[in-house]
Amino acid sequence: MSYIGRFAPTPTGPLHFGSLIAAVASYCDARAAGGKWLLRMEDLDPPREMPGAARRIIEQIKAYGFEWDGELIFQSNRLHAYHDAIATLQGAGHLFWCSCSRSELARNGSLMYPGHCREFKSPRRDAAVRVRVPQGSVAFTDRVFGVQEEDVAEAVGDFVILRRDGLFAYQLAVVVDDAFQGVTDVVRGADLLDNTARQIVLQNMLGLPTPRYLHLPLALHADGSKLSKQTFAKELPTPAESLLVWQALTFLGQQPSSGLKTRSPRELLAWGIANWLPENIPARQGFVPEAEGERP
Ligand code: GLU
Ligand code: ZN
Repeated sequence: MSYIGRFAPTPTGPLHFGSLIAAVASYCDARAAGGKWLLRMEDLDPPREMPGAARRIIEQIKAYGFEWDGELIFQSNRLHAYHDAIATLQGAGHLFWCSCSRSELARNGSLMYPGHCREFKSPRRDAAVRVRVPQGSVAFTDRVFGVQEEDVAEAVGDFVILRRDGLFAYQLAVVVDDAFQGVTDVVRGADLLDNTARQIVLQNMLGLPTPRYLHLPLALHADGSKLSKQTFAKELPTPAESLLVWQALTFLGQQPSSGLKTRSPRELLAWGIANWLPENIPARQGFVPEAEGERP
């Protein structure tokens, strides 16, 4: 079986416990299968990025003992590929150029795009590019969350793949790059579980293969609030790498003994690979352990 996995952080800030979980799980799953693990920086949205975060993330990845295969890809260098994909989709009649303003769409009373601009099948100034989503449900089997089904036309509607301000949407870039890099297995946070059907719609339109998916339970703060870069989840404390990898493995339902806490992060990752049991990953949210000896 050939396996190519990846970790694809967005440099809106340094890695936090939630992103470490995705890194550890994607790494162990790839290595346990004898596969490759790629690193891709999803730096598509400069206004949302934090200066220096990409460099910081790469330092953290190295400090934790992860070793990626092949070339580190920056999505900011891949714009030509996204343009090509837009041309392909346009040629097949899947796209339209929408110049509806936010307030016009708000007046519609629903978050779903009402389909006003569907006839505009070639570029217009000051317009976003939307995909004309076909009716019908998209199904896939997630390795943790099981069978998933969504009618994208009904649940999401005609979604944007190139924003009016000229920035490519994550949905398009992730599909183009996963295929470009030959990714067979996507392991990422469950916050993206409901984006997957949209990505499969695009894969089908572009004639690209659909990878296997494994979504990871989300880590929440003890008060139940979501851990994200937007809520300024604490940066991973550097001296505590071993403990954090141990905690990430524990969060993932693997059972490192407490004696392993003092091993180097690299040794803990090696333990994670040798003992990897993806069927033990819980399909429900969990809580971020407080770092020992410290409180926020
Ligand atoms: N860049 C996305 C994030 O950091 C992950 C994309 C993916 O794994 O598909 O949330
Ligand atoms: Zn429109």
